[in-house]
Amino acid sequence: MGRKRKAGLLLALALFWHLFSAQQVQATQLFLNELLESTPHIQVMKEGQVMRTVELKLGKPAEPQTAPAPLPQKRIALTFDDGPDLINTPQILDILRDEQVSATFFVLGQKVERYPEMTRRISLEGHLVANHSRTHPDFAELSNEEILALELDPTSKAVERITGYYPMIMRPPYGSLRQDSVTYLRERGWQIVRWSLDTFDWDSSRNSPEEIIGRIKTDHHNGAIVLMHCNGPTTIQALPEIIRFLRDLGYHFVTVDQL
Ligand SMILES: [Zn+2]
Repeated sequence: MGRKRKAGLLLALALFWHLFSAQQVQATQLFLNELLESTPHIQVMKEGQVMRTVELKLGKPAEPQTAPAPLPQKRIALTFDDGPDLINTPQILDILRDEQVSATFFVLGQKVERYPEMTRRISLEGHLVANHSRTHPDFAELSNEEILALELDPTSKAVERITGYYPMIMRPPYGSLRQDSVTYLRERGWQIVRWSLDTFDWDSSRNSPEEIIGRIKTDHHNGAIVLMHCNGPTTIQALPEIIRFLRDLGYHFVTVDQL
C-alpha cells in the first residue's frame, strides 16, 4: 500500500468516526427530547430539578440496615426528705445551685406551712417539690381516706398556695404503704416514689460523710433514686463530693419526674 493511499484511508476512517459520533450525540439528544416530551412527570419539572433528582438517586448513600441506637443517657435523681427547715435546707440549696444540679424535695406539710419562703426558694431554684405527708406518720396505720384527707391533700394544698402547683408525686414516710393504699392512691392519680439507693444519712450510728459517700460509690446505677434528708451536717459535708463523683461518671442530675 502506497503512503498516500494509507493516509487517505486513515482520513476516511477519522471522518467516518467523527460523523458516526456526531450522529450518536444527535440520536441521544433526540431520544432525550422524546423521553422528556412523552413522560409527563418529567415534563412538568425544570431541567435543574431533573438533574438534581438524578444526582440525589445516584449520590445517596446506602441506608444503614438498622439505625444506631442512641447512647443511653445516665441519669440519677437526688432526693431530700423531711424539709424544709431554715438551717440545713438553705445549705443544701446553696450547694445544688453552685453545682447547677436539680433535685427533688419531699417536703412535710407542717414545715411547708411554717417555712413558706424556704418552700418557695426550693421551687424557684428549679427543684421539684413533692409530698412526704403532713406530720410524718406511718401510713400503714392509717386508713386510705385518712392518708389522703389528713396527710397528702393538706400538704399538696399548702405547696400549691406557695408555688402554684399541686404535687401528685408522694413518698410515704419510712417507705411504708399497704398494697391497698398503693391501689387507692394510684386510682386517684398519685405517683408513689420510694428509692433505690439509701445513703443511710438518717442513721446517726453510721452516717459519717465518708460512709455516705462510700454507699454512693458502691451502689450508684443508672436511673437511681438516691435517698437523702434535709439533715446536717453530714449530708451537707458529703454532698459536694457525691455530686462531683457522679458527674465524673457521666451522670445527669434530674428530678424524679424526669427519670
Ligand atoms: Zn421522712
